[in-house]
Amino acid sequence: MPDNPVIHKADQHIAATYQRFPVVFTKGRGATLWDSEGRAYTDFVAGIAVCALGHAHPRIAQAVSEQMNRLVHVSNLYYTEPQTELAAWLTANSFADRVFFGNSGAEANEAAIKLARKYFKSKGETRRYEIIAMEQSFHGRTMATLSATGQAKIKKGFEPVLQGFHFAPFNDADALERMITDTTCAVLIEPVQGEGGVCCPDPKYLKAVRHLCDKTGTLLIFDEIQTGIGRTGKLFGYQHFGIEPDIMTLAKALANGLPMGAMLAREHIAEAFGYGAHASTFGGGPVIAAAALAVLKLIEEEKIVNRCAETSKYFVGHLEELKAKYDVVQQVRGLGLLLGLKLKVEGAPIVTACMENGFLINCVQNNILRFIPPLIIEKKEIDDLIRCLDKILADI
Ligand SMILES: *Cc1c(COP(=O)(O)O)cnc(C)c1O
Repeated sequence: MPDNPVIHKADQHIAATYQRFPVVFTKGRGATLWDSEGRAYTDFVAGIAVCALGHAHPRIAQAVSEQMNRLVHVSNLYYTEPQTELAAWLTANSFADRVFFGNSGAEANEAAIKLARKYFKSKGETRRYEIIAMEQSFHGRTMATLSATGQAKIKKGFEPVLQGFHFAPFNDADALERMITDTTCAVLIEPVQGEGGVCCPDPKYLKAVRHLCDKTGTLLIFDEIQTGIGRTGKLFGYQHFGIEPDIMTLAKALANGLPMGAMLAREHIAEAFGYGAHASTFGGGPVIAAAALAVLKLIEEEKIVNRCAETSKYFVGHLEELKAKYDVVQQVRGLGLLLGLKLKVEGAPIVTACMENGFLINCVQNNILRFIPPLIIEKKEIDDLIRCLDKILADI
């Protein structure tokens, strides 16, 4: 669609920070999207692990519309019911006692970084401000969160980055042990690295990380922006590993496509954020909070988390068949419906070929196909994608 007028106009007026596919989407329902030419696509990207309940969910639309007609914004100078109910739900269903609301993943991580520093400052341990994050991690694009990100390409051109971040190899508890010092305030880690290539931890690794943090009094921050809200087949990723973090960040799927981030913490840590310590004008506003509440209610009622775990088994089984059949497929990896197929070849041409056949998939780190569909994806839709991939791989 090179001569599409929307694409032409967009390319003239929108900051050129995104390399977009030449397609204009106009409508969605469930796991299906339609473009401006009326072509249908089955969506295994879900707006980058955001639309967990699919596109244009009528119950979420209704909750948003009702709230829009009642009250849109008053600021955090006052109390509102949706924000209160949402925080109550999140704390009742996780390790955490308190929630701070922002508008994106990066903002949630900003809040976590600020809280970790403030926690030790308020204890009088003023030298303790350094954070150990992981190589290949991704935590966002603001100055603090790109400084916390373990990928050189994300920081390039923006130096000097914020000081106080160090990077440990993922999955290496011994290396982490050597790096934690009396100036370390926190370890920041994604339970499964999403952007880094769908990298899963070894079964005992996160337990070892938790143990190291306990031993040294270091805070453990889980960035569950991608893994949270059912994506891995548990409500939160940490629930797979028999441990709990001290601070957790959420965003992507939380309001199914409306912008919301959240930073959750235990009481004795959250205490360090007193009046005036941190703020956000829009954070946790009534409309977004009503959307998130509708999302969480649906996830509960429709047992979406169990469904994700079951669908995952089915999907992984088929991906393993592709691996057995094609030499270019090196590994099937991931948890729940955050799945990756590591290839011995570049992934981009396969993404394009899938798109031509009506399937949206995505590629991270050049050679890892990532599948992050809505959690309501049907087995038949998976069958169709696998058939398409089978054909594409046969032609390589
Ligand atoms: C997407 C993502 C972020 C950044 O979220 P934004 O809403 O784009 O700021 C941070 N951490 C992880 C793990 C992510 O997947």
